[in-house]
Amino acid sequence: MSRVFNFSAGPAALPTEVLEQAQRELLDWNDLGTSVMEISHRSKPFVDLAAQAEQDLRDLMGIPENYKVLFLQGGATHQFTMIPQNLTKNSSQVVDFIETGHWSEKAIKVTKKSAQVHIAASSRDSGFTTVPRPDTWNLSDNAAYLHYTPNETIHGVEFDFIPEVDVPIIADMSSNILSRPMDVSQFGIIYAGAQKNIGPSGLTLVIIREDLLEPQRDIAPLMTFKAQAEKDSMLNTPPTFAWYLSALVFKWLKAQGGLAAMESLNERKAQKLYDYIDTEGFYSNKVEAPFRSWMNVPFFIADDALHAVFVKEAEQAGLQALKGHRALGGLRASIYNAVPEAAVDALIEFMKEFVKRHG
Ligand SMILES: *Cc1c(COP(=O)(O)O)cnc(C)c1O
Repeated sequence: MSRVFNFSAGPAALPTEVLEQAQRELLDWNDLGTSVMEISHRSKPFVDLAAQAEQDLRDLMGIPENYKVLFLQGGATHQFTMIPQNLTKNSSQVVDFIETGHWSEKAIKVTKKSAQVHIAASSRDSGFTTVPRPDTWNLSDNAAYLHYTPNETIHGVEFDFIPEVDVPIIADMSSNILSRPMDVSQFGIIYAGAQKNIGPSGLTLVIIREDLLEPQRDIAPLMTFKAQAEKDSMLNTPPTFAWYLSALVFKWLKAQGGLAAMESLNERKAQKLYDYIDTEGFYSNKVEAPFRSWMNVPFFIADDALHAVFVKEAEQAGLQALKGHRALGGLRASIYNAVPEAAVDALIEFMKEFVKRHG
């Protein structure tokens, strides 16, 4: 059996070592004679696993004491509702957004059901190929928070700075969490669906500053950060297997040297791919250089008909999931933590061969 190089945007590649460990432990986890999926989430072995997962994540990200770490469900999309419903008093309160691509558009659309959205800055006019400069942002004076998307998974646009504003910063870090060190103390809430750079789908990570826990509206406990925090994210049955696999990924990241090591690896992987795209001339990526994502690299061929040929031939060469998102077309290589440098090297080699055949 051979594993392909997997460039999927999400659910995405997981470290092979992690999958092998899960395979070894599948029938008999922790000498219990059962899998981790078949025990109570309230049993000591699982509660210990959850505590260890949180500690490992705190170590990796340097999460300060005054932040809670929640392991929730519903995906990042659910946070588009949960955050405004917890942080605003009613639907006439204003929240500020920076719009930089598909996922901020989605977050804006959903947030409008719960609050007044003010788009303080947008890069729409550029076709979402840049990040608006902070000195052009038109912030409201009474916003409950500022929401932004540090990495736009579809447009391949990544902030190279953390915004500095007077209100809590809410970041949808679904596709670049754990890709490099980040100063958590600058954020009010960081959230991420697990299936890009953490673990399997079904789990949603929320890192929230304690002063934001209190719900501003009368909503059901399951929908509040406070009740989830008080019950250690076990108000109801959590996705235990996804939690377990994510815990293995955290251990794997520590063994790789932590986020500083991931940062240099990820920078190197992305840089060589962009360098090749820029020098060849056959492929293009229009994102402004400082904002090119290290995680998601969209690229295009001038002759649109060649995109499908590229995807098909790449698959035959063991390079999987390079089709661009339907919203943007073209091609996209997602090169998350679990995608090895050898995969990027193989992709570049394939791209060179493709130019020889079709250029
Ligand atoms: C994938 C993604 C989402 C949606 O995640 P779900 O877990 O499917 O809800 C939201 N935001 C960003 C930046 C993403 O990459």
